[in-house]
Amino acid sequence: MKLSLSNGIFCKLRLEGNLAAVKHLGFQNIEFNMKSIKKEHDTDVYREQKALATSGLDCLTLHSAVMHVKDPIEVHQAVYYGKISLECARALDAPLMTVHSNVSKKLPRHVREKCLNEIFGEIKPFAKSLDIKLALENLSYTSTGFGKNVEQLEEVLGVIDPEGKMGITFDLCHALETKEMDNLLEAYGSRICNVHMANKAHTPFTQETVELTHFLTKLHDYGYEGPITLELEHRTLMEEIAKSKAFFEKLLMKY
Ligand SMILES: [Zn+2]
Repeated sequence: MKLSLSNGIFCKLRLEGNLAAVKHLGFQNIEFNMKSIKKEHDTDVYREQKALATSGLDCLTLHSAVMHVKDPIEVHQAVYYGKISLECARALDAPLMTVHSNVSKKLPRHVREKCLNEIFGEIKPFAKSLDIKLALENLSYTSTGFGKNVEQLEEVLGVIDPEGKMGITFDLCHALETKEMDNLLEAYGSRICNVHMANKAHTPFTQETVELTHFLTKLHDYGYEGPITLELEHRTLMEEIAKSKAFFEKLLMKY
């Protein structure tokens, strides 16, 4: 398993400072979160490419810009977010992009299905043409988006991925908050290709818990060797991030 840090935690910093902070903490790998890019720069992928190359960091995954569509009129914007994110993933040489369902949990089912079809009907072939794998993330009950448990994710995947080729980004924080860890592991254990690692409320783990040990043991049993991406609340102190990093470096050696 490869330890990585989501740079979304430093999204308030300018891009160079953001990546420098990741580097300063001693990480080698990042998940590039699109919220690190200012809106006016969102099509200038060469800027990101240059900043990443200068940092020497390896971008294992990219977290797409997401929009939880609450009216079909917003579909075009969600498609645009997905496509600029894919352009950025290509520029950063990231083989995998984390996506949300992009639809609001408030939409009625038939509208949800229509929107899902339209959004992923555009994003999927574009991702394929760039050779980037998509990984759908499980959400928390606090999210405005649809897809917090197996039932909801099955509905989404049934529409956007009938071939069963899409990966799963397993967010442990969300799974703990929704109490869905075991159900999600059972349904998607073998499809996990990215992990968002944090305790409830995106606080950092700094010691073992029963749930964490159980989760990592299960991941190991499924043969998981992908990223363990620390995805932490943006107010987390640098020393807490460093502590969590040191904790996982030691812990992951056991798996
Ligand atoms: Zn997440």
